[in-house]
Amino acid sequence: MKRAIRTAAKSGFLAADLLSGRMPGPRLLIYHQVGAGMGRQMEVTEEDFRRHLDWLVAHGEVVSLDRAIAERGTPGDDRRYVLTFDDGYADMYDNAWPLLRAQRLPFTLYLTTEPVETGVALTPGGQAEPLTWAQIDEMLASGLMTLGAHTHRHRELGDLDLAAIEEEISVSNDLIEERTGVTPIHFAYPWGYWSPVADTVLRRVYETATLGSGAPISADTDLFKLNRVPVQLSDGFVFFRRKMNTGLMIEDKLRRRLAKYDGP
Ligand SMILES: [Zn+2]
Repeated sequence: MKRAIRTAAKSGFLAADLLSGRMPGPRLLIYHQVGAGMGRQMEVTEEDFRRHLDWLVAHGEVVSLDRAIAERGTPGDDRRYVLTFDDGYADMYDNAWPLLRAQRLPFTLYLTTEPVETGVALTPGGQAEPLTWAQIDEMLASGLMTLGAHTHRHRELGDLDLAAIEEEISVSNDLIEERTGVTPIHFAYPWGYWSPVADTVLRRVYETATLGSGAPISADTDLFKLNRVPVQLSDGFVFFRRKMNTGLMIEDKLRRRLAKYDGP
C-alpha cells in the first residue's frame, strides 16, 4: 500500500516536472548505497544501478564533476551526467565500483570522514560498513574518482555555530589529506541543507559546494549552490529515466519542505 502511494505521488511529481519542460544543465546524480539490501530510499539495487549506467552512457555522457562545471551552459550540457556518491559506504565499493571501473566512468565521492576512522557507518544502528582508506586509495589510484568532502560527523551545518562548522571542515580535510594526500576542493552539504554561516567558511576552503535538488545549473549558477538530483530506491528504472529527462525538481522540493527546510 505504502508503495502504491509512493508510486502515485512520484507520477504526480513527474507530471508536474514534465509540464515545466526539460531543464537545461548537467545532471548531478546523488547516490548513497548500492545493492545494500537494506530497503532504504537512499539506496538503489545493483541491477538498477547497472541499468542506470547503461542508460546514461547510451543517452549522453558520464563526465567528471570538474568537466560538467567547466562546460555548464554550453550546448548539450543537459546530457552530461555526473555520478556522485555521498557518505562513503562499503557497498558502493563492492557493487558500484566494479561497474564504474570496467566502463572507465568518472565519479565523485563526497566522503564523511568519521565513519572511515571509527568503522561505524552513518546508517541507523550502524548497519552497513563504511569504506576503508585502502578502498578509497584504490579508487583514487584509478584516476576515475574525484574525492570531495562531506564534513567529519555529518551534522546539519545549520545547527552549528561558526567554530563548530570550522572544526567539522578542518578535521575532515586534515584526515583526507593525511590518509590520501588529496586536498579536497569540492564539498557536499550534509542532508543537502544550506547554511549561511557555513557558506562563508566553504568559500574560503573549497571551490564548489552542492545541495539537494533545485534550479538547473547554468553559466550563472553560484558554484557554492550547485543542485543535484537524488536517485532513490523507489525510482526503479522508469522514474530514473524520467528524472534524467526532466531534471526533476518537485519531489525533492517537497521532501525538503517536509523537513522544514526553506533554503536554496
Ligand atoms: Zn550525506
